[in-house]
Amino acid sequence: MDFRLTEEQELIRASAREFTQKYLEPIAAELDEESRYPAEVMAKLAEMDWLGIPYPTEYGGAGSDYLTFAIVIEEISRACASTGFTVSATTGLVLTPIFQFGTEEQKKKFMIPLCKGEKVGAFALTEPGAGTDPASATTTAVLEGDEYVINGTKTFVSNGPLADIFVVIAVTDKTKGARGMSAFVVPKEAGGITVGKHFKK
Ligand SMILES: Cc1cc2nc3c(=O)[nH]c(=O)nc-3n(C[C@H](O)[C@H](O)[C@H](O)COP(=O)(O)OP(=O)(O)OC[C@H]3O[C@@H](n4cnc5c(N)ncnc54)[C@H](O)[C@@H]3O)c2cc1C
Repeated sequence: MDFRLTEEQELIRASAREFTQKYLEPIAAELDEESRYPAEVMAKLAEMDWLGIPYPTEYGGAGSDYLTFAIVIEEISRACASTGFTVSATTGLVLTPIFQFGTEEQKKKFMIPLCKGEKVGAFALTEPGAGTDPASATTTAVLEGDEYVINGTKTFVSNGPLADIFVVIAVTDKTKGARGMSAFVVPKEAGGITVGKHFKK
């Protein structure tokens, strides 16, 4: 097996290094000190088509692959670890379940604005009493009529305070343990979301 990067992947690494040295390294310490969301860098990353690298172009992605995504995240994180996680939270944690398991309508509706950087995503799995063991989560989703009603408290939700689209993991069948959990795409405008205290980095 050949583990060497392709010429194109090497080029992307070089341009990601150049990009982060220019736009991210100079402000990395300030971002951490001020716990600030790097909106200006995210806008530039969107221009580069680097927020949806592994996803098909029809869903707003760059039509590339996960290795290329990992290379770009590595370079972003080299300059600023928290920005690396900010990007991978949306591109990895939020977009992957929508792409893998979402309906065609959900993919078109949610993936395009996330990949284009027009909306921010957040993944809500961890709870105050369920971290390493997510199967002990207590957030429930109950079908009432033709809609699910989700109740519970999540924590450590990266991008949470400014997210527009959440992927929320909730218990739908308690008798099935870890297999009785489902992922829901929750747009902020669905309502009923309260943002708690901001953790200091
Ligand atoms: C920077 C950051 C970003 C995050 N972003 C997100 C996010 O976007 N969305 C989200 O849902 N979550 C997020 N998390 C939460 C993260 O997934 C949890 O912190 C993680 O799952 C651990 O949970 P916990 O902090 O409750 O630790 P705990 O589960 O309380 O564990 C504490 C320690 O005990 C150890 N431990 C636990 N159980 C056992 C055991 N049975 N045997 C031996 N050792 C054990 C663990 O290894 C750990 O060292 C984020 C966390 C951080 C730090």
